[in-house]
Amino acid sequence: MLDFGIADRRALICASSRGLGYGCAEALARAGVTLILNARDEAQLTIAADTLRRKTGAQIEIVAADICTEEGRSLVLKKAGRIDILVNNAGGPPKGHFKDWSREDWIKAIDQNMLTAIEMIKVVIDPMVMNKFGRIVNITSGAVKSPIQELGLSNGARSGLTGFVAGIAREYAQYNVTINNLLPGQFNTARIDQLIASRAKQENLPPQKIRSILERENPAKRLGEIAEFGFACAWLCSAHSGYLVGQNILMDGGKFNSAI
Ligand code: NAP
Repeated sequence: MLDFGIADRRALICASSRGLGYGCAEALARAGVTLILNARDEAQLTIAADTLRRKTGAQIEIVAADICTEEGRSLVLKKAGRIDILVNNAGGPPKGHFKDWSREDWIKAIDQNMLTAIEMIKVVIDPMVMNKFGRIVNITSGAVKSPIQELGLSNGARSGLTGFVAGIAREYAQYNVTINNLLPGQFNTARIDQLIASRAKQENLPPQKIRSILERENPAKRLGEIAEFGFACAWLCSAHSGYLVGQNILMDGGKFNSAI
């Protein structure tokens, strides 16, 4: 049986009551990791934790807080205790046109999809170095490789995080502390439902029609599933991935067409 070698580890998965964060939590739970789950809505978070405990038998703690605020991060970090594995995640910014975005809109997006992850890394990295083990995975987006026109806030903010991670990841590899980014294409989550609904309204088509177009356009002829994303995350967090450093792993069913 494949052993990920992280059964005695503790993982904080930010923004994980549903969607991609939840997928990562489930896979890490199956690898025997103790989880700290976070999201803003406590009721939903409690349901997610109960479901995961039932399915995997994992030890799970929850901290309801907004991870994009200083107070939220302090609370999560205080309650989390030792963190061997950190999965950075948060919601995505709204669609729109750059001419309509104010400075405040940009600050919010940069806080959400760049600075929050950087602040979290800043706190967890020294203890990871001391322990000679650490795995940090940032959930970013395929948009950093292939920008999505109407998601300019996401393209911009996440590219900032990508550049930052590329710069620091090499510095920590010698301590068996790795930082990598996992780039989702289109996955079946509430977020993609919202984006599909918005495009359906714009094009005056039923949402199911838009979904079928997305599926047809993808080489895999379907959207991704959160369990698939979770397994990739667990692999990046495994004891055996210490030589995988500063990478951007695109999971998009092959939609981004390139030789390498
Ligand atoms: P989702 O299904 O909407 O789930 C988002 C999760 O994050 C929920 O658990 C939500 O719970 C939590 N959350 C949101 N904001 C938070 C905050 N400020 N503090 C703490 N928890 C927060 O979204 P998803 O599809 O999994 O997407 C996750 C990330 O990947 C997003 O940034 C998204 O833009 C990006 N992404 C997704 C796709 C895709 O196809 N799904 C593609 C590219 C990029 P609460 O609302 O209760 O806080």
